[in-house]
Amino acid sequence: EFTANQIAAGEVVERPVSVVKELVENSLDAGATKIVIELLQGGLSCIKVVDNGCGMTPEDAHLCFQRHATSKINQSADLNSIYTLGFRGEALPSIASVTRVALTTRHHEQLEGIQISVEAGKLKEASTIGCPVGTTIEVQDLFFNTPARRKYLKTQAAETGQVSDLLSRMALARPDVKFELRLSGKTVFHSPGNDSIKDAAACVFGYENVKSMLEVDYKGEYLTVRGLISKPLLTRASRQYQSFFINKRYVKSGLVASVLQQVYQTQIPSGRFPIAVLHIDLDPTQVDVNVHPTKMEVRLAREKELAEELQRALSEPLSLPTA
Ligand code: ADP
Ligand code: MG
Repeated sequence: EFTANQIAAGEVVERPVSVVKELVENSLDAGATKIVIELLQGGLSCIKVVDNGCGMTPEDAHLCFQRHATSKINQSADLNSIYTLGFRGEALPSIASVTRVALTTRHHEQLEGIQISVEAGKLKEASTIGCPVGTTIEVQDLFFNTPARRKYLKTQAAETGQVSDLLSRMALARPDVKFELRLSGKTVFHSPGNDSIKDAAACVFGYENVKSMLEVDYKGEYLTVRGLISKPLLTRASRQYQSFFINKRYVKSGLVASVLQQVYQTQIPSGRFPIAVLHIDLDPTQVDVNVHPTKMEVRLAREKELAEELQRALSEPLSLPTA
């Protein structure tokens, strides 16, 4: 018999990568500037996320495993201008319902921390502990109590690949944050966190590929755009090498993709796509992130004006004339 949390877990936590995503987003929401992610056996036996964010008070640490106990939104009006990545208060209770979790956290205003262990959603132990400010969450034995779900997990290598892709995307989304991924004790990915999109992109795509890319740095009436686009000579056969971030959130945007293609259309053969990492910042009330539960699809207001400005922003580094 499934609890509400276990049912929600089916949506929030499908596999290791979804657990990592929720935990890392919480670390970002907590203002962390350094996040270390460690996996054992592709995350099937252990996923550990260590951050240097604001930490939780002992009260919050107990509350965070309860459903809808989010600290992030108090009024529904806020939904139109959310800057935080999480706001439903479902991730931790869902994860905790299908795993063994150890939470160690110290709030930045407290002298000591607290350690709490939860198994299948039930509190096992809680004690005070000396630890640095920030939060460490260790999730063990994913789906240990729901073997039917465990069956659907892929091989360790496949799960690990998905986590690496996620981390690459996050490093591009937040060049101001240091990310480190460790697999069975070995560091396989490391971003500098120096707020340079170019340096973050070099970690992801390799320095040689990034070196020749053109920088976009545009401030307009409705939006600012920063990032990298490839020279027309350096294109790819798929859109896989394009990442768009709106207000620091990774998004799928048909609008951005088509403006990008338009700008290049006279420069590259059809069927080829530029490489691009684009950070677009705009008034959060003009972005509807609630179109899809995974928050990847966005709806934008004032599409026409945005498209025009974006076209100008992208044409500039290519020295193309604009309408
Ligand atoms: P949400 O992110 O939607 O608020 P979660 O279930 O992901 O819900 O987290 C519940 C709450 O636990 C958060 O609102 C936050 O108060 C707290 N929390 C979770 N992870 C962290 C973290 N790494 N640092 C500080 N607080 C955290
Ligand atoms: Mg969350």
